[in-house]
Amino acid sequence: MRILVTGGAGFLGSHLCDALVARGDAVVCVDDLSTGRTGNIARLQGETAFEFVEADITRDLDLPGPFAAVAHLASPASPPQYLRRPLQTLAVGSSGTENALRFAHRHQARFVLASTSEVYGDPHVHPQPEDYWGHVNPIGPRSVYDEAKRFAEALTSAHRTTLEVDTGIVRIFNTYGPRMSIGDGRIVTNFIGQALTGRPLTVYGDGSQTRSLCYVDDLVRGIIAMIDSTEPGPINLGNTEEYAVGSLAELILEVTGSASAIEYLPLPVDDPARRRPVIDRALERLSWEPEIGVREGIRRTVDWFRSQPGELIEPLNCA
Ligand code: UDP
Repeated sequence: MRILVTGGAGFLGSHLCDALVARGDAVVCVDDLSTGRTGNIARLQGETAFEFVEADITRDLDLPGPFAAVAHLASPASPPQYLRRPLQTLAVGSSGTENALRFAHRHQARFVLASTSEVYGDPHVHPQPEDYWGHVNPIGPRSVYDEAKRFAEALTSAHRTTLEVDTGIVRIFNTYGPRMSIGDGRIVTNFIGQALTGRPLTVYGDGSQTRSLCYVDDLVRGIIAMIDSTEPGPINLGNTEEYAVGSLAELILEVTGSASAIEYLPLPVDDPARRRPVIDRALERLSWEPEIGVREGIRRTVDWFRSQPGELIEPLNCA
């Protein structure tokens, strides 16, 4: 298959490109390099089955076909990154998604939207099944990401019903692993960066808020299963192991063997109190479930950062 991956030079996108090329697909990776990095796709650049196009998906995209599928991942994804680019985040979720959908329609390609657990906002239902509509502050700081993704889901559904585009929506819960940018301000990269450089781990609030962290290889398997299916979704993709942020700090101190202290900073506005996916649908419809536990995934991620000392710059805090 020939597949377009938008956001293909990002953390998740580049792992998806790797896995698709490895199984024999041809990949065209589109990225404007606003948060993506060429280093993430450096290994693929020599492959004949891989092509990189530097382009902004919020502008119309014209590439010669054929394309069997479009995986639309382009968007800033970490809170500090999207809070720094509020208008661009809204634009890529709306115009960017519309362009990617039009592209899929033109090429009669399967379209898979990388949506997010953020569509559930600060959830009143726990854990979160796909039929929960969410609890999102439409004008809060996180809304630029949350509402853009909610609009992207609506746009995707409308293209399915009105134009018969073969669409699928996956809702991705917190994902981590090698190649995350240490400076993008997410929990796993901040804590690992801080632990490995002897700085205090910055826990926001009292650390009782929870997240469920999925290792990148598991997540990519789920996206590929969705590309290969005809399921419309939405389908949650995530790991059901739920950790309080404070316990995750302890785990990372243990895995790294670091003597760093823990420092408490204010909780960011609208930070969701808890998050854990219900993944029955992924298991039923995609035969997908995660295989790598959090301790093992964190160990692999720490090993990767240890092998890349140039990555260990100052982490970014949003509190
Ligand atoms: N967090 C934290 N310290 C950090 C970075 C994040 O305590 O240095 C917390 C944050 O408040 C949130 C959780 O970790 O409750 C996950 O944050 P992240 O930015 O990774 O993703 P989110 O799920 O909020 O989009």
